[in-house]
Amino acid sequence: MTLKIAQFLSEKQPATPCLVVDVDNVEEHYHSMQAALPSARIYYAVKANPARPVLDRLVFLGACFDAASWEEVDLCLSAGARPENISFGNTVKKASAIKAAYEAGIRLFVFDCIEELEKLARFAPGARVYCRLLVNNHGAEWPLSRKFGTTTESARELLLHARKLGLDPYGVSFHVGSQQICADAYEAAIVQVGTLLADLAADGLRLRMVNLGGGFPIRYRDDVPSIAHFGQVIQRAMKTNFGEALPEILVEPGRFIVGAAGVVCSEVVLASRRGYVDGPRWIYLDIGRFGGLAETEGESIRYALRTERDGEETERVALAGPTCDGADILYEKSYYALPVTLEAGDRVQILGTGAYVSTYCSTRFNGFAPLSEHYI
Ligand SMILES: *Cc1c(COP(=O)(O)O)cnc(C)c1O
Repeated sequence: MTLKIAQFLSEKQPATPCLVVDVDNVEEHYHSMQAALPSARIYYAVKANPARPVLDRLVFLGACFDAASWEEVDLCLSAGARPENISFGNTVKKASAIKAAYEAGIRLFVFDCIEELEKLARFAPGARVYCRLLVNNHGAEWPLSRKFGTTTESARELLLHARKLGLDPYGVSFHVGSQQICADAYEAAIVQVGTLLADLAADGLRLRMVNLGGGFPIRYRDDVPSIAHFGQVIQRAMKTNFGEALPEILVEPGRFIVGAAGVVCSEVVLASRRGYVDGPRWIYLDIGRFGGLAETEGESIRYALRTERDGEETERVALAGPTCDGADILYEKSYYALPVTLEAGDRVQILGTGAYVSTYCSTRFNGFAPLSEHYI
């Protein structure tokens, strides 16, 4: 937790549950990403946290943006981003969204199949397009499954076909899965891209861009390799595979830019054993799976917690949200221990919640108001 957030929480005692984001910390992460990968252009993945103060700061810093919908494109534009600095990075787009983005000046679009490519040819004629590859997500704590991306062989055909459709086949992208703690995943994907670009060059098509996607991890309960380490592995792999003929490099970090900048402040609603003497004590917070902590699904993302009683004796707990849904459990299998004296009314801080929390919040499930947000 940054000093600024700690001060804000103790001075203001804001109503819970709330998310507090230190926008200066967002800036620090933007700079450290740029320092780790000086040759890459940073396209912030807006979905991680689309709040206006975050976008404003990133626009001020000269960042580019990866938008997933027309609404996100529009958000970036209204924050002052220039259309040439926005990529429409969702492989699944409505025709109306492509059209609206194209009319607003967006000229960079992703695709991973012939059907989407044909849509782009029709509604974004002449635009730069890049093809998303399916790569191994092994090592990612929040993998992206097989929902996106195509094979190298099909990408080759599609990119050649793009030219015939009057589009500008510009590059390729991949995403190694979110909270990817293994830098080798990027290296393996870059090797795959290297082969594809060499094959296409032999076909007479020289691609100019490689988009390395997002995935860069932050520290939750456990240490993760530094961003400098990811930068070194990636730059070495780019050099090995492309030599001096380096293509333009794009990255689309989301979690890395905003995750560590946010803290959720919550309150214990109930702490009880419900008659089970041997089991863990159940701690029910005023935020759960439906209040924004969706990434606790499968206990994939394990947040670090702070209480005002830290340092006292602890015992094993299970943690759950306040709603009437049985799926609204944060952690039951993962080992969490909290102070034995923790009781209803105590505050619990959930660290590293700047990304993928505010927008995953349900609107009014069980009547609970959505998470309030403070950007400081
Ligand atoms: C979600 C997403 C990102 C951001 O991923 P992080 O793991 O948060 O860095 C980047 N690119 C695409 C296409 C995405 O879907």
